[in-house]
Amino acid sequence: MSEKTQVELLKEQLFKKNENGRQKASEEVLNKADEYCEGYKAFLDSAKTEREAVKTAVAMAEKAGFTEFELGKKYNAGDKVYINNRGKAVAFAVIGKEAVEKGVNITAAHIDSPRLDLKPNPLYEELELALFKTHYYGGIKKYQWTAIPLALHGVFALKDGTIKEVSVGERDDEPKFVINDLLPHLAQEQSKRTLNEGIKGEELNVLVGSHPFKSDKGSELVKLNILKLLNEKYGITEEDFLSAELEMVPAVKATDLGFDRSLIGAYGQDDRVCAYPALTAIIDIDIPQKTALAVLADKEEIGSMGNTGLESDFLRYVIGDLAKMQGGDPTVAIRNSKCLSADVNAGTDPTFQEVMERRNASFLNYGVVVTKYTGARGKSGTSDASAEFVASVRNMLDTAEIVWQSGELGRVDLGGGGTVAQYIANMGVDVVDLGVPVLSMHAPFETTAKFDVYMCYKAMYEFMR
Ligand code: MN
Ligand code: MN
Repeated sequence: MSEKTQVELLKEQLFKKNENGRQKASEEVLNKADEYCEGYKAFLDSAKTEREAVKTAVAMAEKAGFTEFELGKKYNAGDKVYINNRGKAVAFAVIGKEAVEKGVNITAAHIDSPRLDLKPNPLYEELELALFKTHYYGGIKKYQWTAIPLALHGVFALKDGTIKEVSVGERDDEPKFVINDLLPHLAQEQSKRTLNEGIKGEELNVLVGSHPFKSDKGSELVKLNILKLLNEKYGITEEDFLSAELEMVPAVKATDLGFDRSLIGAYGQDDRVCAYPALTAIIDIDIPQKTALAVLADKEEIGSMGNTGLESDFLRYVIGDLAKMQGGDPTVAIRNSKCLSADVNAGTDPTFQEVMERRNASFLNYGVVVTKYTGARGKSGTSDASAEFVASVRNMLDTAEIVWQSGELGRVDLGGGGTVAQYIANMGVDVVDLGVPVLSMHAPFETTAKFDVYMCYKAMYEFMR
């Protein structure tokens, strides 16, 4: 082997390394990543909505010894508890050796994803076909949601307090639903619309049936027959749609992508690709130094509003209750806490490289992404993580040999976005975004790399252990 030149040596010492982690990784690490992602894919299939994600996560945690937190009960180091917020958000905690007042290490991901919610009065009949009106949830490219199989998930809440759970279209033997699009032959006028208006919000109407109720006379017989079927199955009438949360999601299962199976394709990876690592990491930790807290939140995709979103006081109360359980001061506990806001970033797509600024973009297989700030225009609407906190996270990742990269959400002034980081920062907590790079983010079918998912898990584990 020839000796390194002075230039090579100096570069090694001074230049920042940015490498394909998958290429450098050992077989052992890649095998572990593959194995880990089998669990991840199963989670994706059983957790297509925030309610299902809470249910699945709680079941996994209970199996690992977590119990529902009881106010007034004393918990000791190593005890595992969870706090379920209305079945749509949940916090898991493992009590640390130090007092909660000394601060907790939080990982926060969200379990809601862009989708199509049914309107309060969804069902109608037109031209002897029955359809559902929808109102899209989160930022979607509406045209992507037509002519693909859809499944209906959610709940009817009846006036007597009964909850009827709905899931239709996931099993092979179940029917699915579809939003029809115009044939290209007659789309001359539609094609002149902008991409954003290619399919309009009020055109996202889901076909749900065509069989008319057998009768000699009467109108809306197809709608009547649908309601009859729903009444038989769920005991509901049309009015019960008013107190329902029903969501149309893509009826596709998580799957490996590529000849080499190095990638995963699935609906709802933003942000279950971070929620699953946060959940499995807190399940796997033993007795942490500081109390560990993994929060799976709802409503991020519409701005974290509402009592199950992270702009609410939910997280404040969780930390407060844990501190008070030990006779500690809630606000001191919050001020001493640190957080990884676990959310996805936009990976660089070979086909759309121009939206990225290459030197600050993230890439698939380059590991978990640390994003110092998100936002739009002059960093508007972001929590810009402090240099000090980013330094401590860098140190943690490097010490544990976790492959990571830095990222930005696209070129300056091209768009932007935000995460829950800003709301947690508002509490006085040190927070930085860390997550997995995704292609086709917010599409009905999103792409991630298995290696990055596994590195995300390792980062969550290291942060909370
Ligand atoms: Mn997200
Ligand atoms: Mn999102």
